[in-house]
Amino acid sequence: MTTATPPLLDARGITKRFAGIRALDRVDLVVEPGEMVGLIGPNGAGKTTLFNCLYGLLRPDGGRVRFAGQDVTGLPTHRRARLGIARTFQRMELFSGMSVLDHLIVAAQPSSSRLSVLSDLVTRGRPPAEVRDRALEMLAMLGLQAAADRPIEALTLGQGRLVELGRALMTEPRLLFLDEPSSGLDRLETAEVAAVLVRARQERGVTFVLVEHDLNLVRDVTERLHVLDYGTVIASGPTREVLDDPVVREAYLGVTV
Ligand code: ATP
Repeated sequence: MTTATPPLLDARGITKRFAGIRALDRVDLVVEPGEMVGLIGPNGAGKTTLFNCLYGLLRPDGGRVRFAGQDVTGLPTHRRARLGIARTFQRMELFSGMSVLDHLIVAAQPSSSRLSVLSDLVTRGRPPAEVRDRALEMLAMLGLQAAADRPIEALTLGQGRLVELGRALMTEPRLLFLDEPSSGLDRLETAEVAAVLVRARQERGVTFVLVEHDLNLVRDVTERLHVLDYGTVIASGPTREVLDDPVVREAYLGVTV
């Protein structure tokens, strides 16, 4: 008898209230391994709250979150990180004075439990060769080889966002939550982010859940889309169908699709 593989992420009935406001009302979100899933909705719809409930920064008032079949509803973020759940933030966490390559190196998770990249850097001043090689591969995937030794503050916003994405990918996540990766970027920079996401999925099998206001990016990289409005899912399905849905277009009145 074969057992069906559980979804990578299976969130059911997620409810969250803030002082009388129901920010989320019984939201379901199921993500299969290898999928690129988008999450859109007007300002205040509950997208960030849902992300925080799924990632572990907030505890939902109702509902369960399962990751690869395991109930993670009450797990703190560092325990979820060990299972392979990562996220990027809209506000980047980059360290001035540190090179681009070092940003990737220190983000790496040790490949064996006895190996600590950070302690190696502190005690011997250099990372293990395996970690350095992985960071160099990541630089190539980001298209940032020429910037390897540049201090992070010398980069453009678009390049900084790619480094942020690379740092999350260095932890070798199975599931990566992306919080508006195109925020503040121009069209060309957004296209570069999209290309890296597509490559990361093809080459590394990473599963993505993406909150994004740029509907062109959503259309280009996601195959399934959920729309939140006032804390409930008002539409979900194949991205192109959902974006053409009159109810969704109305929720987005004024936004060009
Ligand atoms: P945006 O696109 O503007 O980031 P969003 O879809 O991410 O919006 P949320 O930030 O999740 O929406 O907010 C959903 C609702 O919950 C809003 O009414 C918001 O004011 C409220 N809310 C969110 N966080 C808190 C909080 N910490 N305390 C009180 N209310 C909150």
